[in-house]
Amino acid sequence: TEIKVWKEFDKSRLYMADLESGLHFLLRVELATHKALEGAELKTFKDFVTISAKLFPGRQPVVKLLETLQEWLVSLPLDKIPYDAILDLVNNKMRISGIFLPRKVQWVGCQGSRPELRGYSCSLWKLFHTLTVQAALRPKALLNTGLEDNPQIVLQVMRRYIQHFFGCRACAQHFEEMAKESMDSVKSLDQAVLWLWEKHNVVNNRLAGDLTEDPKFPKVQWPTPDTCPACHEEIKGLHSWNEAQVLQFLKSHYSSENILYKYTE
Ligand code: FAD
Repeated sequence: TEIKVWKEFDKSRLYMADLESGLHFLLRVELATHKALEGAELKTFKDFVTISAKLFPGRQPVVKLLETLQEWLVSLPLDKIPYDAILDLVNNKMRISGIFLPRKVQWVGCQGSRPELRGYSCSLWKLFHTLTVQAALRPKALLNTGLEDNPQIVLQVMRRYIQHFFGCRACAQHFEEMAKESMDSVKSLDQAVLWLWEKHNVVNNRLAGDLTEDPKFPKVQWPTPDTCPACHEEIKGLHSWNEAQVLQFLKSHYSSENILYKYTE
């Protein structure tokens, strides 16, 4: 087994290495468990690629890859696509220049103190938080995709992605329950950002002290007071969130300006 050297990182920043490693894992590992995509799975994958192509605040070769994948999926008249065909395109067998997704897993802000901890599931949260924030910051980005004018769109695609593809089936079931209960109440792109934040904290709360918790990264209600003092208030001695401040914090934490490229090739 490979011995990994601990990478120093800044908790207040987002690392492109985590987001790209997450995409790599999603496209080349998680999806590979499906021999072919059709029906609701194919629609879900198409929509995931569309929102990512339009909203992922990535490096040019990666965004180009997502755009190429999207155009290819949209133009294909098939209702069943073999996974190998997707993989060929992701691996750029067609040798289209300037298109590239690094093939390696390099967890930075998502590294765990043991290899089975954190990693992909951490990056998937970060990816979808980033997409909800990008949709709120750039409301016109999805124009002419058929996915515009729907404030829940990123959440709905995430819900369907988790349901059809996420390897952790218990997680998918939990997430589906939360979605069923309240996703409908989301009426704006800002509310979508806050919905995902709130539900992620519900999950953190449920998993605090669980076996899956990395002792180096205890599950906390996030952002903590030291990360965002203005997000926390006390009303009559009880803790409460200042949601306007939380929204502002999320919009800055998951913005492209907060992304560091350290540890990317
Ligand atoms: P994560 O919870 O993965 O968080 C990653 C990073 O996101 C944090 O380091 C922090 O920077 C940021 N963050 C933390 N909280 C918030 C927030 N509220 N809003 C915005 N950003 C935040 N595991 C289970 O064992 N059971 C489950 O039922 C389960 N359900 C899951 C459902 C989904 C949809 C996903 C994506 C994962 C689920 N997991 C579940 C995995 C679990 O939530 C963690 O991803 C995993 O335990 C790794 O935790 P972590 O310490 O890296 O932090």
